[in-house]
Amino acid sequence: MAIRYIDADLLIVGGGSAGCMAAIRALELNPGLRVVIFEKGDIKYSGSIARGMDALNIVAIPNFTTPELYLEAISMASQGIVDAKPSFEMARRSFELLRKLETWGVYFPTDKDGKYCTLQYHPKGNFLAQMEEPDLKVMISRKSQDLGAVAVNRVMGHRLLMDDGRAAGAIGVNVRSGELVVCRANAVILSAGGQARFTLPNSGYLYGTFDYPGNSGDGYAMAFEAGARLTGMEHTRRTMLIKDANIPLLAITITRGGKMLDIFDNILMEWSCHDHKKANAAFKHGYGPLRIRISHLTEETIQKIEDVLFTTERPVQKRFFEGRGIDFRKSDIELWPTEDQLCGGHGLSGLVVNERAQSSIPGLYAAGDVACVPKQHLTGAFVFGEVAAEQAVRFVSENLKTRLNENQVEQAVTLRDQRFASGGRQIDVRQLEFKVRRLIGDYVVSPKNAYKLNRWMEWAERFRGEIDSQVRITNGHELSKLYEIENIVQCGCFCARASLERKESRWGNSHLRTDYPDQDDTNWLCHLDLEKGEAANEVRLKRRSIQMFEGEEVFS
Ligand SMILES: Cc1cc2nc3c(=O)[nH]c(=O)nc-3n(C[C@H](O)[C@H](O)[C@H](O)COP(=O)(O)OP(=O)(O)OC[C@H]3O[C@@H](n4cnc5c(N)ncnc54)[C@H](O)[C@@H]3O)c2cc1C
Repeated sequence: MAIRYIDADLLIVGGGSAGCMAAIRALELNPGLRVVIFEKGDIKYSGSIARGMDALNIVAIPNFTTPELYLEAISMASQGIVDAKPSFEMARRSFELLRKLETWGVYFPTDKDGKYCTLQYHPKGNFLAQMEEPDLKVMISRKSQDLGAVAVNRVMGHRLLMDDGRAAGAIGVNVRSGELVVCRANAVILSAGGQARFTLPNSGYLYGTFDYPGNSGDGYAMAFEAGARLTGMEHTRRTMLIKDANIPLLAITITRGGKMLDIFDNILMEWSCHDHKKANAAFKHGYGPLRIRISHLTEETIQKIEDVLFTTERPVQKRFFEGRGIDFRKSDIELWPTEDQLCGGHGLSGLVVNERAQSSIPGLYAAGDVACVPKQHLTGAFVFGEVAAEQAVRFVSENLKTRLNENQVEQAVTLRDQRFASGGRQIDVRQLEFKVRRLIGDYVVSPKNAYKLNRWMEWAERFRGEIDSQVRITNGHELSKLYEIENIVQCGCFCARASLERKESRWGNSHLRTDYPDQDDTNWLCHLDLEKGEAANEVRLKRRSIQMFEGEEVFS
């Protein structure tokens, strides 16, 4: 197979919310820049936005809320495991971002007094600004390309290219043909989302996940392989969603007066949906299925909720509920906990970054769910997409051109050919993914203990052996699936190693160790960072202090 070579000033890996925004900002600053985007799907509708988006979850509206109050709210929501500067920076730029989106035609509804419609989603302050824009992804992808970004669709970033310790582009794989695409660049922005395909959803479908299933932790694995620092990988995230459809609705219904109930009609949530303790306890004790009731709300509010759910969130829901004969005026909506994921957007996992979206590798920036800015949501993806672009454009202008490392390309060719080698291989790639994710569900996520976590580490070794010599792939598409599974296994190991090390429990179901059931702030009110060691598959762990406003820089 031929190799395709591309040359760029800036390579963006992942053309979702953060990636498109980064491309737009880079080209606003320097229209002459050659910006290339590797996108695993089709940039027009790939990524989380297309899974449903009804709000900018964090906007500090002047004279209403403040970035300082947001910092208080996010510290509470992440039980103290949050660096001050990136979250503050995001909130500080959030209103300017909203205004910019408005100039592009994105609609943020206002009340009769002209004030933005907001809801309370965080423990403090109404930071969630409602948004009605079903075509948001089409809009930003088109804008990035109109400005000159070159989207290379159906190409999965596989390895970062390095030049003397500096990020120098990436090697990608076409997910249909298996063709290698090598892009040399002077800086790289990683925006490949989180790890959506971690455990299996309860439907059992590999791709029936809450988050965009193309996000298979590739960004975490690529960055780690290249030597970047990860953090928070012990904190998996799982939440209550619409049973079988696996679509979120708590923020849409509860904040508008809906109630979450158990089978005894005890109210577990009403008006505010940040605290999941009661819901988790009810589910654990078998008082489920939990349900959302909105039948007591006014017809106007019910119609508003239907509007959001059936248009901006995900139109398929209308048919789903009709098919099941569910009318919100008469019936409750059944909930079920979804699969576990690793995510810097909804959770606490990702690359270590500072408020300038810099990673620990020169020339490598990270934005969106791949980066750990706790619970940054769409606001973080957009703000840090912009911040990363601003920094990358400056870095490119101040540094020499990188050189292409041919050895890395040869290694990628060798690996690809090895994966294709036939001789006696019998395991189907889809069956392997099913088993890997089933065992991550059994051994890696809460409730956790040392025995289970060590069992996963044994299984991971076995899976790696099977990937090397027993998995059968017959075309380029299966090759990309196999690479994804390698990344899923790798993320399982990141999570298991960090979970073994953090000998306490924290953040509810996200890290619940039955052998260390208590939260231990004396020893563990800190980050746990992961870095590649010398030996193959070695993961080094290191505690890092929480960054306060006046404290040390993240990369000191
Ligand atoms: C169902 C749902 C509803 C949400 N609702 C809201 C909301 O209402 N308000 C809010 O503020 N936030 C919301 N969020 C969160 C928000 O959407 C995300 O935090 C944000 O969109 C993440 O942006 P991102 O660019 O990091 O990831 P994405 O937008 O998911 O983009 C990642 C992109 O990378 C591509 N990719 C993955 N791997 C590779 C690879 N190896 N090589 C190349 N490309 C790759 C993917 O195809 C994808 O296009 C929601 C999320 C979900 C899943």
